[in-house]
Amino acid sequence: MTAIDRSSPVSVVGTGTMGQGIAQVALVAGHPVRLYDTVPGRAKTAADAITARLDRLVEKGRLSATDRDAATARLGAAESLAELAGSGLVIEAILEQLDVKQRLFSELEGIVSDDCLLATNTSSLSVTAIGGALRVPGRFVGLHFFNPAPLLPLVEVISGFATDESAATRAQATAKAWGKTPVRCADTPGFIVNRIARPFYAEALRVYEERAADPATIDAVLRECGGFRMGPFELTDLIGQDVNEAVTRSVWESFFQDPKFTPSLAQRRLVESGRLGRKSGRGWYAYADGAERPEPSTEPACDAPDTVAIQGDLGPAEPLRAMLTEAGITVLDHESDQPDDFIALPHGAALILTDGTVATGHPVGQYIHFDLALDYRTCTRIALAPGADVDPRDLRAAIGLFQRLGKRVSVIGDVPGMIVARTVAMLVDFAADAVSRGVASAEDIDTAMRLGVNYPRGPWEWSEELGPDWARNLLLAMEFIHPGGRYGASLALQRQANLHEKRSRP
Ligand code: NAD
Repeated sequence: MTAIDRSSPVSVVGTGTMGQGIAQVALVAGHPVRLYDTVPGRAKTAADAITARLDRLVEKGRLSATDRDAATARLGAAESLAELAGSGLVIEAILEQLDVKQRLFSELEGIVSDDCLLATNTSSLSVTAIGGALRVPGRFVGLHFFNPAPLLPLVEVISGFATDESAATRAQATAKAWGKTPVRCADTPGFIVNRIARPFYAEALRVYEERAADPATIDAVLRECGGFRMGPFELTDLIGQDVNEAVTRSVWESFFQDPKFTPSLAQRRLVESGRLGRKSGRGWYAYADGAERPEPSTEPACDAPDTVAIQGDLGPAEPLRAMLTEAGITVLDHESDQPDDFIALPHGAALILTDGTVATGHPVGQYIHFDLALDYRTCTRIALAPGADVDPRDLRAAIGLFQRLGKRVSVIGDVPGMIVARTVAMLVDFAADAVSRGVASAEDIDTAMRLGVNYPRGPWEWSEELGPDWARNLLLAMEFIHPGGRYGASLALQRQANLHEKRSRP
């Protein structure tokens, strides 16, 4: 299916943040663009703001003056909806309220022709519900741009229950022709990004609520060990705590309060206190002039042991074996009755990649858990969670060992799945579940999470690298400790893990 013709007028209704950005994208792509807003004069102000942004692009050498002049000549502000007749595509970016959006589209249907593509930029409402009252609902799609629309490449193309496949592919082709990276998605709460990303925020909030680490430490571990561009606390301060919490609550309510999406009491209290993030001068962090960002907790220097012994295969942490040798530490083989694979420390403790259990009071020994890293070689920080019964000399040895490998070390409370591992396992599970339910393809989910929220790896790619049984096992162990359904591995992940195990048996 082909994109709508460049000569075909595109209309944008609602000329706030998103409307302006989307209009700019369509305009630069070559369409005549008309803007409409209910507040008198606002469409004209938006047209002026878009023109000013195009001027800046010319100053920066990213747009020629000729193209700018041609684009501004194609841009117009409408004073009534009736002026949008003749549009090939209308994109709505008005306030996020179902009845208002429904009314707008009903009115539009009486103005535009039946082959005009109608699209909503809603981020949390059901596309099916918005288009539910339409006379020709087949041409109605979700086109979910990300803010700022001119800069961010991702567009989620959402098919409602009544959307014709031809309308969805036309919308997809149009977004592509505009230089965007469209992904296809079914009409389910949060679409792709806002659904799959929920545990990135929720797990960090849980670790904080369990008092295992403070926000600065959790952010630092997810950045410097997990490879995420920003930690969840600093990111939600940027997004706005109220906005982020509203998305979480809306997705949770839309899934009939499924425990996998339960919001956080700590974030609720933060919002109630008016600490909304950067925009209010304070969120998890303070932003007033001169305010200092708290430092993550980092251990002082400790001595590394000269010799350690490794039992079994360290799985995703196996690169540590070679790294220890390269760092001048003698690595011996270890054999014991303990069922796990681990690094044996000098005073009897086992240093082990977190597996979703608690370290304290481990039935077969003293355990210190360490967190999952995106890449053990390049990561600059590692988190350790010692059991309460660990010999302090072994904790110092574990700290010294990672310091010898060039890592900063954060010691956190003994919570199952620690910080990065539980987050990644949940992302993997959410992605597996979404694919099996027909929300989107694995490839589109990975694309959406890399482009929409800058994840260092798509959840499917991560799952392939770690093996689906890794995430399944971690979650099953966590569900045993925190029963209630949040950590129960999805049916899809369990099937994948079973298959993976069967295929890897000799
Ligand atoms: P905004 O408040 O900046 O702008 C909304 C505009 O719509 C305002 O100018 C308002 O006057 C106008 N408006 C309200 N009712 C109208 C009506 N009936 N007809 C015409 N104009 C009307 O909002 P925004 O942040 O641009 O969000 C718009 C939509 O895009 C929402 O559905 C939102 O969920 C979605 N969205 C927002 C973001 C974001 O980061 N801001 C990202 C993706 C999607």
